[in-house]
Amino acid sequence: MELNKRQERILQIVKDEGPITGEQIAEKLHLTRATLRPDLAILTMAGYLDARPRVGYFYSGKTGSQLLGERVRKLQVKDFKSVPIVIQESSSVYDAICTMFLEDVGTLFVVNKENTLAGVVSRKDLLRASLGKQHLEDMPVSIIMTRMPNIMTCYMEDSLLDAAGKLINNQIDALPVVKEKEGSRKSYEVIGRITKTTITKAFYELGNDEPV
Ligand code: ADP
Repeated sequence: MELNKRQERILQIVKDEGPITGEQIAEKLHLTRATLRPDLAILTMAGYLDARPRVGYFYSGKTGSQLLGERVRKLQVKDFKSVPIVIQESSSVYDAICTMFLEDVGTLFVVNKENTLAGVVSRKDLLRASLGKQHLEDMPVSIIMTRMPNIMTCYMEDSLLDAAGKLINNQIDALPVVKEKEGSRKSYEVIGRITKTTITKAFYELGNDEPV
């Protein structure tokens, strides 16, 4: 976040003289307390200043990049996930290719009859299957997918940073956001999708100071 001239001056005053009240800062700048209120609110919300009742404002001591890091670590999967595109494990490779084009995604999540996560198919999985001589209409995706329990997943309440770590460390493009099915651990319902695009979008919004 870029600070304006007045916010920079307020920050300097608080650094030098804090704890200091809003009135005292206003006096030093020859402004009214009301004029300063929005700037003080921004500085406090962004984490540069802390405010204590009856004591006043003091400098948090945090640098811009520390504050950015704090903001990034607070981002959660549930606020960024997109709609998952899911196919049945009995679907053919041909149908999977059509779905990928129609839905404009790079990864499909595969579920079984109970709607439980069974696997993942990516673009390259489908390309590889297409190189063979077999009929794609007759080949079920279940024989080419990466299957459970080898699927990397994430939960709604996970941090987006952890999800990004899984994408990078496993060299994959997408993670299903899952919920454990009642009564059975390791059996998941797919409720969302986190992809490299999700992370790029969050990065873009943070950089443009949009409210993420
Ligand atoms: P692409 O095939 O387009 O490079 P990925 O890098 O996502 O796409 O996929 C690489 C391999 O990892 C594929 O074989 C795919 O089935 C598998 N894969 C993709 N997503 C996951 C995941 N969430 N968990 C485990 N394996 C995955």
